[in-house]
Amino acid sequence: MYKAIVINKTEAEGYTAHLMDLDDGDLPEGDVTVKVAYSTLNYKDGLAITGKGPVVRKFPMVPGIDLAGTVMASTHADFKVGDAVVLNGWGVGEGHPGGLAQKARLKGDWLVPLPAAFKPEQAMAIGTAGYTAMLCVMALERHGVTPDKGEILVTGAAGGVGSVAVAILAKLGYTVVASTGRPSEGEYLKTLGAAEIVDRAQFSEPGRPLGKERWAGAVDTVGSHTLANVCATTRYRGVVTCCGLAQGMDFPSTVAPFILRGVTLAGIDSVMAPKADRLEAWSRLATDLDVRKLDLITHQIGLSEAIDAAGELMAGKIRGRVVVDVNR
Ligand code: NDP
Repeated sequence: MYKAIVINKTEAEGYTAHLMDLDDGDLPEGDVTVKVAYSTLNYKDGLAITGKGPVVRKFPMVPGIDLAGTVMASTHADFKVGDAVVLNGWGVGEGHPGGLAQKARLKGDWLVPLPAAFKPEQAMAIGTAGYTAMLCVMALERHGVTPDKGEILVTGAAGGVGSVAVAILAKLGYTVVASTGRPSEGEYLKTLGAAEIVDRAQFSEPGRPLGKERWAGAVDTVGSHTLANVCATTRYRGVVTCCGLAQGMDFPSTVAPFILRGVTLAGIDSVMAPKADRLEAWSRLATDLDVRKLDLITHQIGLSEAIDAAGELMAGKIRGRVVVDVNR
């Protein structure tokens, strides 16, 4: 038997999430079985557990788009019993039972070896949120945004993706401006490396097609009017990475920033990102993220607390990252 959070949708009870006991017969198809040590709560897990977004594609479903653990059984050539592994995305926790459980069975092709620089709980403190932040930074670099080019704006800065993005960019020498709706987190964001804190309200309402040029680059986790206003205030040939929708999925912009200022909008997807990009992102995280900052960004909870914490995450009350110890 093993414990797991199980989401279900039935006529009798509607949309539910419970902590349950499952047995090996409940494990799906896959060539690698993992004893999970830690998982985490990302925004998408919050949507899945609370039912606030159509994330789960099959019921019943074990949520958890991330996991770190040890291989218990494997017929995959790259993994043997005892190997430490990490999984991010690939539709796990959406269409394939995920990491908020003590056991998971997966495709070996989805797994990456746990980087030597990290303990399993540190890999989950990073999780999909942190690995996505790294993908955003890599995209800024690929498009030529170097620290000397000017200020980088991070929106949703006190959230998971935002916090890790601030820490990475600051360590790389960028001047980071953190946009948040929680002024109380200003000191936290400065400790992570933000040079300035701005109120997210200045981006959240409908704005003009073009505004005063300020940002050399941006990491946007928020979407909607925020993303439109960020593009409108990005400098000539600046780069905006778009990875999230915390304000909304819409993008009420004009083409003006793109055709008059040559702004680049770079889309970031972590879920189906090819293995080579994942390995590069994890190896960059090992060098470009100060692991001591992870302690500041993260707090740990047990599996039984994850359902309540998902509600808090959706209410925007959680700072940084949540690591879930699935064995307590
Ligand atoms: P969190 O919930 O940890 O952070 C989201 C942050 O967004 C909040 O902390 C808050 O920051 C800000 N926010 C919330 N509501 C609003 C609002 N109405 N208007 C403006 N800002 C708001 O989520 P994550 O960091 O895990 O994820 C952030 C986004 O990135 C999500 O939309 C998620 O789905 C997406 N994502 C996408 C990935 C991809 O592959 N493209 C991978 C991972 C995440 P503050 O309090 O500082 O204002």
